[in-house]
Amino acid sequence: MLYLDANATTPPDPLVVEEMLPFLTQHYGNASASHAAGRRARRAIEKARGQVAKLISAEAEEIIFTSGATESINSVLAFAQQEWPQRPLLITSAVEHAAVVEGAERWEQRGGRVKRVPVDESGIPRPQALREALEPGLTALVSVIWANNETGVISPMAEMLAMAHEAGALVHADAVQMAGKVGIDVKTVPVDYLSLSGHKMHAPKGVGALFVSRHAPFRPLLIGGGQESGRRSGTENVPGIVAMGKAAELAVSWLAGGQAAEMTSLRDEFEQLLIDGWPGARVHGANAPRLPNTTSICLPGADAAGMLIVLDQRGIACSGGSACHTASLHPSHVLEAMGFEAAHAGSTLRFSMSRMNTRDEALSAAVEILRTAKHLAEQKGFLD
Ligand code: PLP
Repeated sequence: MLYLDANATTPPDPLVVEEMLPFLTQHYGNASASHAAGRRARRAIEKARGQVAKLISAEAEEIIFTSGATESINSVLAFAQQEWPQRPLLITSAVEHAAVVEGAERWEQRGGRVKRVPVDESGIPRPQALREALEPGLTALVSVIWANNETGVISPMAEMLAMAHEAGALVHADAVQMAGKVGIDVKTVPVDYLSLSGHKMHAPKGVGALFVSRHAPFRPLLIGGGQESGRRSGTENVPGIVAMGKAAELAVSWLAGGQAAEMTSLRDEFEQLLIDGWPGARVHGANAPRLPNTTSICLPGADAAGMLIVLDQRGIACSGGSACHTASLHPSHVLEAMGFEAAHAGSTLRFSMSRMNTRDEALSAAVEILRTAKHLAEQKGFLD
C-alpha cells in the first residue's frame, strides 16, 4: 500500500511500538499505586511528560495527558465558557477541525456568541478580521487551528495571539497537524492552551496532550480520581503515554536533523508532476506558509470520489475535498471558506506524507494518480 493519508493518521513508528509494548505486557501497574509496579508506571509517565514538553519548548508540568486532541479541545472550550460567563464571546476561524466547529456550536447552544474569522483564498485566517471581531473584555477565548488538516496552510499564530492578548482574551492553538512537522516554541509564541494528538505523530490512537501555560487558569473537564495533578481524572493510558513521549522525542530529532526541508522538496516534486500532468491543476495554498507534508490539489474535471475508489483498489490511500452526503457532494467547509464551489471540491484530493514515505513511493503515486484521473476521464467521455 502507498499510504498518503498521514493527516488522517500516521503509521506507528516501530521504535514507538517497541517502547510501549513492555507497558502492555510486563509493566502494567496502575500509576497511582504505591508499589513498585505503580511507581514504574509513574516514572514512565513523567519521562513522557518531559519528552512531550520538549517538542513544544514547554515545561513538563504544563503538559496534561488526555485521550486525544478532541478531548483536549473540548476541555479548553468547556472550561472557558464555564469560567467566564461575563465574557460570552468565542472567536475561532472558518477552517477549524470538527472538534472546534462543533465545540463552537455547543458554545452557542449554551447561550454564548461565536465569531468565525474568515480566511483568504489561500486559506490563511485574516488577522485584520480577528482584530475587528475581538471585543475587549467580552472575549473569553480565541481558538485557532495552527496548521490546517486539509490544506496544510499555517495560520499567522503569533500575530493573532498578540491581538487576542491585547484584548484580554486567552488563546488556544489546535497544533495537532503542526506538531512534529514544524517546530513549535510556546516560549516564543506564548499561547495559553495547545492541543496535541499522538496518532498524528507516529504514536497510536487514543492518546493526546493538552498544554496549559503556567500563567493560564484551568479546571478539568473530567473529574473523579484526581490523576494528572487533578487536571484530568481517569486511570492513565500508560502504554499510550509512553508511546506519545517516544514519538515526541523522535519528532524532536527529526526536526533537528533538518529533514522537514527534504520532505518539502519531495512534496514540491510530487506536486510538480501532478501540475505538469494535468491541465489547470491547482495546489491550494501553494504560496502560503504550508506544512511540508500536505498537498491539497484540484485536478479540474477529475472525479475525486471516483478516483478515491480506484486509487484505493490500486493500493493508494488518500482523501478527498468533499464529504459525501447521500447522493450529493458538498465541498468541505475549508474549501468553501476559501471561496471554492462544489465542483472544485469534487475534483480535489488531499495527499499527506509522513517521514515513513520514500521518494519512490511519492513519485510512483503521482504517476498512478495521473493515470487514474486520465483513465476515469476517458471512461466518462466514452459514456457521455
Ligand atoms: N485537530 C485537528 C487539526 C485534527 O486534524 C484532528 C484529527 O483529525 C483533531 C484535532 C482531533 O484529534 P484526535 O483524533 O486526537 O481526537
